[in-house]
Amino acid sequence: MNRKRNEGVMIMGQSKIPKATAKRLPLYYRYLINLNNQGKTRVSSQELSKAVKVDSATIRRDFSYFGALGKKGYGYNVEYLLGFFRKTLDQDELTEVALIGVGNLGTAFLKYNFTRNNNTEIVIAFDSDEKKVGTKIGGVPIYHIDELEERLENINVAILTVPDTVSQQITDQLVAKGVTGILNFTPARITVPKNVRVHHIDLSIELQSLAYFLKHYPLDDE
Ligand code: ATP
Repeated sequence: MNRKRNEGVMIMGQSKIPKATAKRLPLYYRYLINLNNQGKTRVSSQELSKAVKVDSATIRRDFSYFGALGKKGYGYNVEYLLGFFRKTLDQDELTEVALIGVGNLGTAFLKYNFTRNNNTEIVIAFDSDEKKVGTKIGGVPIYHIDELEERLENINVAILTVPDTVSQQITDQLVAKGVTGILNFTPARITVPKNVRVHHIDLSIELQSLAYFLKHYPLDDE
């Protein structure tokens, strides 16, 4: 594991990109790759807006942070944007990720392994179930959770797919090993020191919320 690690900061020169803009970056990036593959050299904010479902005023504002100024009647230069995104998203540097809890959800992640992002990859997994330990899923080796201390080296991002009852205890272990980013799929709210970033994704709440919005805030026809 001697590949370069991603420090994960969204800083371009001296200026920080606003968080909301940074979150949309991968979305733009994926679409621009498609355009580039189709041989397109420019794109308008309206076209982008339709494809990524972000309103065009927001796209124009976002792109101004990237130093990309669209020209009227021409749009944005695809190659310039791709170059910028590659640099900003550190596409050349691989972020190695650990996954804790190889249950149904964890297994799905190992199989999927984010192959559409070429800069993040789950390289190691841990579980407490002896039947899973020593096996591989999607080429990723699964070790016993008791080996975390010894095996987890130079990895600062982890995905948490364990039962919520053990999530805090495992989080503490991860933090002690230098993990600074946790994607928490457990329903538990975990407590971490200030230097650790947690993104919490509760799929059942997301689904419920979607159903609620559909019911109470139907979208107008376009
Ligand atoms: P499954 O059908 O395999 O039980 P699940 O997603 O329904 O999947 P959960 O009970 O949520 O199961 O557990 C997720 C995974 O976390 C399981 O593989 C389980 O063995 C593992 N796990 C439970 N406790 C720990 C722990 N303390 N450390 C590491 N992994 C654990």
